[in-house]
Amino acid sequence: MAAASPMTNEQIDEIRARLASPNLNVTELREIAQTLLADNGAQYMEADYWRESYRLAKGLSYDEIGAIIAVRDASKAHPRPCRFPHEACACEDPS
Ligand SMILES: [Zn+2]
Repeated sequence: MAAASPMTNEQIDEIRARLASPNLNVTELREIAQTLLADNGAQYMEADYWRESYRLAKGLSYDEIGAIIAVRDASKAHPRPCRFPHEACACEDPS
């Protein structure tokens, strides 16, 4: 896999097909896991790049783009029990 480049849909379909095989062995599973971990890192790098591009294009400060992200994170559903440390959390049950 090329370094620091998120996988294409074709590559992801290929991994799904490999995972669906009844003859998967541990070595193959390790290789697939390593590929997915590397892709995870590449996805984060790509997201960072686009976030910074958006910030610069909109003329936002780091605090302003941080506030956009904080509001988005606060208003989505959180895993139970919710431990989101923000008064804007939209979860109904605080337990
Ligand atoms: Zn919550």
